[in-house]
Amino acid sequence: MTKNPTEVLDDILHTLQNHRDEGISGFDCSAEAAGLMDRWHKPLRQNHDPLAAIRADLGDCRRCTLCGRRRNIVFGVGNPEAQLIFVGEGPGREEDLQGEPFVGAAGELLTRIIEAIKLSREQVYIANIVKCRPPGNRNPEPGEVETCRPFLERQLKAINPRFIVALGKVAAQTLLDTQEPISRLRGRFYDYGGIRLLPTYHPAYLLRNPAAKRDVWADMQMLMKVYDYED
Ligand code: URA
Repeated sequence: MTKNPTEVLDDILHTLQNHRDEGISGFDCSAEAAGLMDRWHKPLRQNHDPLAAIRADLGDCRRCTLCGRRRNIVFGVGNPEAQLIFVGEGPGREEDLQGEPFVGAAGELLTRIIEAIKLSREQVYIANIVKCRPPGNRNPEPGEVETCRPFLERQLKAINPRFIVALGKVAAQTLLDTQEPISRLRGRFYDYGGIRLLPTYHPAYLLRNPAAKRDVWADMQMLMKVYDYED
């Protein structure tokens, strides 16, 4: 695949941003190269809040068509040092209005799930595969997922949790890069770049299929067994 110059520059920029998020504050280069980078985008050293830097890079995102009908970008919320991140699919109506993930009916159920594992929303971090509401709550399309993915990946890297819970098919299939159905994926841990990832059913699915709550509870008990509540 041939990339155009803008895509190549974007790739370089993302690599440098990743280095910055990992704490690398500089490297040797010529004065000419440093000048070029200064003019090219924003200065690389903005502040030391990696999540704020990622949010700033996202800006008033127009990278895919989901921007057209959104009210708010739903970036993510919670503890920037969380040991556990929940990743959903994408904002729904209420999330789009409030700019916060999981605040509608499915969100209430997610809050109960978090409390059932003896944590609070403030202790964990909550994000989505895509940050803008897909119209009519349809599944995000592959192009939308791929456009948004680098930002979620940077959030995950910046927070560096011990665990990720992937809520539902879209989150699990995207993060694990597979087409396996969620019913086959759930119920065990996977390795996501050194982070333990546990797929389970999406709370919205549980609202439609309460019988599946038993499976989610089994998954959460599995998580509780290995989650160190002393930390
Ligand atoms: N469903 C999701 O996947 N994410 C939200 O933020 C809300 C509902």
